[in-house]
Amino acid sequence: MLKKSKIKELAKKAGFDICRITDKIEFAVEKNILKKREKRGYWPSPFFNKDINKVCDIKQIFSDAETAVVLAVSYQQKADNNPYLSKYIGKNDYHIYIYNMLENLIKMLQKEAEKPFKFQKFVDTAPFMERALARNAGVGFTGKNSFIINPEYGSFIFLAEIMLNLKIEPDKKLNIDCGSCRKCIDSCPAEAIIKPYLTDFSRCISYLTQKRGILTLKERKIIGKNIWGCDVCQEVCPYNKNVKHSRHPELKLDKLFVIEYFINIDRKHPPLELKEMALSWRGFRILQRNAIIAAANSRAEKYFTIIKNKLEDRSPIIRFYAVWALMEINESKAYKILEELLYIEDSKVVKAEIKRLLNDNY
Ligand code: SF4
Repeated sequence: MLKKSKIKELAKKAGFDICRITDKIEFAVEKNILKKREKRGYWPSPFFNKDINKVCDIKQIFSDAETAVVLAVSYQQKADNNPYLSKYIGKNDYHIYIYNMLENLIKMLQKEAEKPFKFQKFVDTAPFMERALARNAGVGFTGKNSFIINPEYGSFIFLAEIMLNLKIEPDKKLNIDCGSCRKCIDSCPAEAIIKPYLTDFSRCISYLTQKRGILTLKERKIIGKNIWGCDVCQEVCPYNKNVKHSRHPELKLDKLFVIEYFINIDRKHPPLELKEMALSWRGFRILQRNAIIAAANSRAEKYFTIIKNKLEDRSPIIRFYAVWALMEINESKAYKILEELLYIEDSKVVKAEIKRLLNDNY
């Protein structure tokens, strides 16, 4: 049957940086913590599976599961030149890229095994407690920012898993932790890490850049100049200094994406390069909105005309943020424009925002 050393050798060959094995696929301790957090309204994220029994027991998803092979791929590139996007955004969607790596690894494992085996595979969007599983396998330890931190690669890693119906000798958990450090807690611009190991997603910038609907003024300010995601709590982490870099140039961006680029997206015919990146799943309007917010928060005059052109956008949501952004950038210039706009704007929501802005700045 499959040997642990062979699985690790093949995982490396398939391009994975880390491969660890665990048979601890039920999370009783985490289940109790989750139950308490659910009561207090601190579910890990609105995108996380809401079924507490499923997220805490892999056998509920794959009843034959005996072992989890937990894999990781670093996306920490040598040079990052995209200040408005999280580091995890590369020219290829990592879900697809790593899924292909997993398929390749499974083919190699099947060839190696004497008998066929059952398996299930996941990349990032696993419907169970992926980080708890990674911790059990010793891929890393849980940082106070809730990310899995590997001593060699840091926390800028993508996780993937293969569940097997085979018994394989497990690895041990790592015996490391954050010690007395609390840099991530003190550095979060949104104060979203409310205590070690507990992040309030509703304040987290990464979530706010994905949240649909009308953002409050406070939320718009918190977003700052981030168009997609936020890496502050990982960037300040000492475990992310002097780490091994990614060996996958396919997971990095080859060009600088500026604020103007996102404001000017043609939503009907979005650029192919954007469709291939892992930031289009919430739609292109949300990227455009975030770019308008980033421009407003920068208060740079160079964005005024570009945003003024968005007052004729077919989406009331975009017009809503555009009127607010113009006031943030240049109040006196924007005031006159909004006064005229009030008579021709047909969306009630946008009209109400114009009235609020005109009254507040009277
Ligand atoms: Fe832990 Fe410090 Fe890193 Fe936060 S910044 S995860 S406290 S080591």
